Amino acid sequence: MTASARDDIVHRVFQAGVVGAGGAGFPTHVKFRAKAEIYLVNGAECEPLLKVDQQLAVQEAALLVRGLALGMQTTGAREGIIALKAKYAEAIAALEPLLHPNMRIGILQDVYPSGDEVITIWMTTGRRVPPGGIPLDIGVVVSNVQTLINVARAVDGEIPVTHRTLTVAGAVRQPVTVTLPIGTSMREAVALAGGPSIEESQTAYIDGGPMMGRLLESLDIPITKTTGGIIALPADHLLIRRRRSDMRSILNMARTVCEQCLLCTELCPRHLIGHELPPHLIVRSVNYNHVAQPSVLLSALTCSECAICEAYACPVEISPMRINQELKAKFRAEGARYQGALRSADPMIEGRLIPISRLLARIGVAQYNHKAPLAPHHYVPKRVAIKLRQHIGAPAAASVATGDTVQCGQCIGTPPADALGAPVHASIDGTVTSVTGDAIVIER
Ligand code: SF4
Ligand code: SF4
Repeated sequence: MTASARDDIVHRVFQAGVVGAGGAGFPTHVKFRAKAEIYLVNGAECEPLLKVDQQLAVQEAALLVRGLALGMQTTGAREGIIALKAKYAEAIAALEPLLHPNMRIGILQDVYPSGDEVITIWMTTGRRVPPGGIPLDIGVVVSNVQTLINVARAVDGEIPVTHRTLTVAGAVRQPVTVTLPIGTSMREAVALAGGPSIEESQTAYIDGGPMMGRLLESLDIPITKTTGGIIALPADHLLIRRRRSDMRSILNMARTVCEQCLLCTELCPRHLIGHELPPHLIVRSVNYNHVAQPSVLLSALTCSECAICEAYACPVEISPMRINQELKAKFRAEGARYQGALRSADPMIEGRLIPISRLLARIGVAQYNHKAPLAPHHYVPKRVAIKLRQHIGAPAAASVATGDTVQCGQCIGTPPADALGAPVHASIDGTVTSVTGDAIVIER
């Protein structure tokens, strides 16, 4: 590929505002500028109850393969892998006939966290990302299914990212996977799933999956490019109570009941793959005024926040993960970095990743594991609030003002020149009714 053809693809991906749809929203045009050996599509979707990528991989199989081909061209990758669980038989059947000779399906076990990119890479390539490193350190670039579908639309049709597909599940009447204009309120998304199946006043909501998602204080916030799901649960569900515990109670629990049983470390996926991260030692160290090798505490920076230690491993309901989150915030503010070496992987790793069926039962959501079928895409809200920061990096600056008329797909905000970021676009036709430093509101 010539440099100018590559620049053209990267430019289109930037202009369309494509960011990582599976996580924190890393701007995809930056990944497309990297040099890699393998381009990996992470289609594991290992968070229980979420059913987005496995259905999009069927419905938009051709776009997904096209997006992967574009990623391989720009990064120079010699191999493209689409990582899918064996149980996503429909997706495998839809994709296989479309694969190019230098692409393959990488089959994953039905375990958690097979979608943690460090684990996905190891399962599909045998390569291991070093602690504190990124996939590119070992020649791999990873993108999510929806991201590459957006790439294909951006490059071939100059179509910007205006919609997001997400699952609404848990304690709702009709679990569903819907495609909505970005900026639609979460309340409307829940209504499209028939509303909560229990008293509204007794319902709490998680933004994302039950393991890694965050508690929503209100449903009156907008869907963004990275919203993968909304999970409704009874307000007294353990997953909700855990998220509501304050740090003081977590530290008190750790101090009084940690029995140093080691289970959190024995089941920690990052530890299993050969990273130092020993949650039991971090808990012990925090309990005794940080008496540990500095590298033990610093290894908290390599915690993926998968929640296995808190939600599955610990028999006495301590949360090493929350302690790690506190340490991470402190170390990041100090500019500290972890620099430990990659060790041998635990020979027991295959047997220690958690089967999803066991995880569903342990975290108390097995009764909510329904299909959540992908619904036709037709809902247009009366009002959307487009966040100016839906990605890692600098927020976009609004390029419209109150009173302006805009059309779906029109660019309404761009990041500062030379800053990491992505533009944002109107997701419905309408009039701009408010512009703040946080969001642009459009009403029909
Ligand atoms: S699993 Fe719980 S009790 Fe056991 S070492 Fe870890 S934090 Fe302590
Ligand atoms: S959340 Fe717990 S189990 Fe997961 S990586 Fe962090 S320490 Fe390990």
